Amino acid sequence: MDDTGLDGIAQFARQEIGPYLAAHPEDRYPLPLVRRLARLGAFGAAAPRQYGGGDWSRRDIALLGYELGRGWQSLAGLVGTHLKLCRQMSEHGTPRQRERWLGAMARGESVFARAYHEQGVGHPSGLRTRATRRGPVARLNGRKSWVTNARNADRVLAIARSDGAVVGVLVDPARPGVTVGPELPRPGMLGISLAEITFDDYEFDPEEEVLGGWGHDLTAALLTHDVTSYAARAVGSADAVLEHTVRFVRDGLAHRPADVQGAVRLRTGELAAKVAVMRTVWHALLDPQPPETQGAPMTSAVAKVFCTGTLQDVVREAAALCGGAGYAATDRTLDRHYRDALALPIIGAPNDVLLSRIGEQELGRG
Ligand SMILES: Cc1cc2nc3c(=O)[nH]c(=O)nc-3n(C[C@H](O)[C@H](O)[C@H](O)COP(=O)(O)OP(=O)(O)OC[C@H]3O[C@@H](n4cnc5c(N)ncnc54)[C@H](O)[C@@H]3O)c2cc1C
Repeated sequence: MDDTGLDGIAQFARQEIGPYLAAHPEDRYPLPLVRRLARLGAFGAAAPRQYGGGDWSRRDIALLGYELGRGWQSLAGLVGTHLKLCRQMSEHGTPRQRERWLGAMARGESVFARAYHEQGVGHPSGLRTRATRRGPVARLNGRKSWVTNARNADRVLAIARSDGAVVGVLVDPARPGVTVGPELPRPGMLGISLAEITFDDYEFDPEEEVLGGWGHDLTAALLTHDVTSYAARAVGSADAVLEHTVRFVRDGLAHRPADVQGAVRLRTGELAAKVAVMRTVWHALLDPQPPETQGAPMTSAVAKVFCTGTLQDVVREAAALCGGAGYAATDRTLDRHYRDALALPIIGAPNDVLLSRIGEQELGRG
């Protein structure tokens, strides 16, 4: 394996994250791992080559999500958000903004977070956060419910309504008018901050600090849900859990009575079969078959719903197979994947929202 690009990141995720977490508290910001990921090129995967990025294919970016999901979902969330924002900067940024930001983003020197969601708001047109302009100065006011990496991000893209558009303000969290709230309590996704952000008369330059310039509307971009990365992260987690469980169960198997060995084999087989189907669904998304060999193509929504939903069964069944010794083990790998898995059906777009859209399409047919 090389030590850069996807191979380097796979090696890092499989060999370095586990030992790091065994030696450090899970709820502390993992600066050494973030720096390592920057050196490996993870933050530049979605940035164009002219700015020093890797311009990776959609497939390789999904494989990056798989590897980081296999290692630690918190890092996958941090990098995944940043890559989405790199892509938005490439697609929507003005030439000056691209020049100013993309190189630093690709090198991981400017890590971006995204402040979009507001509790109870389903459509960008309903956002309560407002950007208002008076001449050469604009102000941002509002509150965002959950922001990944709120505390450590160098810039936050805050989505707000302005007159007639939904805009993205490039917020410098060190300037006056930005308050990052206390760390939100949660079962998993620790280490990378999750907090509310409040904007209180935050002043900004309406041309230089709005993605694409003042009035550039992001509504269509915000309504496009490519949730491939969440399916990838779920499959990575399932593979890690299966590997861990097989190793754990195999170690004690020989000392069990024959009937128990049979039962454990059956349950292990069931676990392995579920993970294999998850992989198959995900690969159908990554490597679509020629049209003549199949019916409707796999969509990222279907793959996300299936893989993140099945992961819940996988972590529960793995925990049962590992028994009390697994539950109370000093190695927290299984426990961490279990807790982190709970977030995956919610984030990106909730699975029920995706299913409602899939149902609408089905009912709309014919
Ligand atoms: C760990 C974590 C990290 C996050 N990071 C970020 C971030 O960095 N930036 C950011 O902007 N946001 C972030 N979020 C917020 C995240 O995007 C939202 O939690 C997510 O979009 C779901 O919104 P909600 O929690 O308000 O769910 P709700 O809208 O309250 O939905 C709850 C449930 O209600 C049902 N439901 C709601 N609407 C529908 C519908 N239309 N059809 C069918 N069922 C429906 C579903 O069962 C759904 O799961 C994060 C959240 C978490 C948990």
